[in-house]
Amino acid sequence: MPRRALITGITGQDGSYLAEHLLDLGYQVYGLVRREPESMQWLRRIAHRIEFTYGDLRDSVSLETAFRKAWPDEVYNLAAQVFIPTSWEFPADTFDVNAGGLSRLLQIAAREKPDTRVYQASSSEMYGNSGGPCNETTPFCPASPYGASKLAAHHLCRIYRGRGLYAVGGILFNHESPRRGPEMVTRKITRAAAAWAKGDRTKLRLGNLQARRDWGFAGDYVRAIHLMMQQEKPADYVIGTGDSHSVADFVEQVLQVLRQMTGDSDFSGPIERFVEVDARLVRANEIYDLRADARLAREEIGWKPTVDFKGLVEMMVKADISALREAASAA
Ligand code: NAP
Repeated sequence: MPRRALITGITGQDGSYLAEHLLDLGYQVYGLVRREPESMQWLRRIAHRIEFTYGDLRDSVSLETAFRKAWPDEVYNLAAQVFIPTSWEFPADTFDVNAGGLSRLLQIAAREKPDTRVYQASSSEMYGNSGGPCNETTPFCPASPYGASKLAAHHLCRIYRGRGLYAVGGILFNHESPRRGPEMVTRKITRAAAAWAKGDRTKLRLGNLQARRDWGFAGDYVRAIHLMMQQEKPADYVIGTGDSHSVADFVEQVLQVLRQMTGDSDFSGPIERFVEVDARLVRANEIYDLRADARLAREEIGWKPTVDFKGLVEMMVKADISALREAASAA
């Protein structure tokens, strides 16, 4: 019998990569969706192999229906209100989805099928400005309603684990891909780069160019998510590359890729020729540097990343250039 997995957030970046990975491993995959088909763009290739069920993390009845339909061995709770500025505008809703949603799932799993394993998408945003490389013992100090909601959910995992449920929180540092949400800074930059490659010189407005993040490739990170759920005993793991780069570094790397692709020396610094700082986009309670110490994951679950910073930027720029070309030829 194939193992059965229920994925919330299956239409998103991580959900779509995880669904591909689990199907490759022979799983029967169930996905919770809020609507279709626009939100399913990353699932087109595999949609016929997935059982979809409608639901929302705020709605217990829909979650119970999805759970009973999937009767899962493993639940991957990837759905969330993910955008930090939105969490400042709608903190209560963010908590309802990000912490309330997990609490509903944990309650259903504990009541209906307590041998179900539950994965929670925890986040490096729980560390705030703790400073230095962060590992599983670094104190949490979230700096936004998003980070606080993720920390509440992370603690819920630990509490249910204490009551015998297999529940793990994967503390993932930033991970990107061509499927990253367009509102996120890396994707904003690579989408702008596609326009620059076409000759458009509109400057991109960004917030703090000096903020540093540990950026990895989402396709690598979903392997870690799955591995964490296969351990004999449930435990939380930090996942990241161990290197951090600033937003300015990201823009510089993008220009280098454009220079290599087009041979056009116009794609050279200073980056202010292509981007400008908009004070309105500088985050309240900015986190200055987030960097992972993922040694435990390397040692215990045997995970390491395969795509480095340069490879990631190149992959994203090339994908956005292709997407823009396809959109132009379809118009
Ligand atoms: P994403 O691409 O924005 O996907 C978010 C998913 O959540 C979408 O499928 C969305 O569905 C779904 N969703 C949102 N609100 C929902 C609700 N009320 N009920 C049901 N589904 C809902 O995010 P991602 O980058 O893949 O991230 C996956 C998870 O990892 C999130 O929990 C995020 O907080 C966490 N995380 C991400 C990172 C990162 O760097 N990417 C780092 C640490 C943790 P629709 O398509 O219907 O909108």
